[in-house]
Amino acid sequence: MVNLTNLSIFCKFKHEKGLILLKIEEIYNNYLESLQSIRKEKYNGYEDWYSGSAAGSCYKKQFYKVNQFEEEPMKEKTKRLLRLGTIVHSDFEKALEMVSDDLKTDGYDLYIEHKIEIPEWKVIGHLDHCVVKKDGDNFNMWVGDLKTMAAFSWSNKFGRRSKKGINQTTSFGHYELQLATYALGMIKQIVPDKYKDFNSDDFYLNVDRVKNNIKLYIVYYNKNDSNMRIQEVDVNAIDNAIAYWRDLNDFNDDLSNKEIEIIKPNGSIGVPMQSWECKYCNYETICTSQ
Ligand code: SF4
Repeated sequence: MVNLTNLSIFCKFKHEKGLILLKIEEIYNNYLESLQSIRKEKYNGYEDWYSGSAAGSCYKKQFYKVNQFEEEPMKEKTKRLLRLGTIVHSDFEKALEMVSDDLKTDGYDLYIEHKIEIPEWKVIGHLDHCVVKKDGDNFNMWVGDLKTMAAFSWSNKFGRRSKKGINQTTSFGHYELQLATYALGMIKQIVPDKYKDFNSDDFYLNVDRVKNNIKLYIVYYNKNDSNMRIQEVDVNAIDNAIAYWRDLNDFNDDLSNKEIEIIKPNGSIGVPMQSWECKYCNYETICTSQ
């Protein structure tokens, strides 16, 4: 026979448990928001600079960012997804720190979560990790970036849906341009006298001379099954990064708030840069409603 007293306690408990679960999601979201605020503080004073991680993005989106238009709030799920990536990053940083001394003994400097600045293009960012061996103005440099990926993106990149053989084209997307931007930022730091002005006419040539000393690679981490792949990125991505930041600065420097309103999605080269960008853009409402 059912004991009614126990049943009511059980229902009450279930009810309370439900409330607690709901609150946990809310509490976690508040925690993530507080982390976001701390992260933002890292970029205080750089509000009108571009982010290195946004290399290759839509010019208009970049205009909104540096002119501090208000973004649409990030979805809670997106914040959690980004947090997972940050946690994996933090683990890799700690793992790399463990080999830092050994590398130093062998003459290599290890940079982890290292700040890069390119004032000529108003670019600021933090690279994941970079190893440098320097001798005077000569250097060898390995620049790496970790990317966590969900299964769908993973199989698009490495699985049956990926482009193989003659269908494979060398194109540089966000990840590659971001990495190349970090490499350029490092060049500026380690040989500042040789690479003073990134807008000078002979800059491409100067960079060309050291390209063979640079290795770029992306470490992909599958969030579903923890598989890892390391993929080398063609060092010529550096040329594309130079072209991107120069063109972006030319584009945006010439435009006023009023003029940017006139440019609708697909109304100009680079707006957007890729067909899928508008769907995930935090300025979509403002961009299409103006
Ligand atoms: S909605 Fe599309 S075109 Fe407009 S800013 Fe965003 S990415 Fe660019």
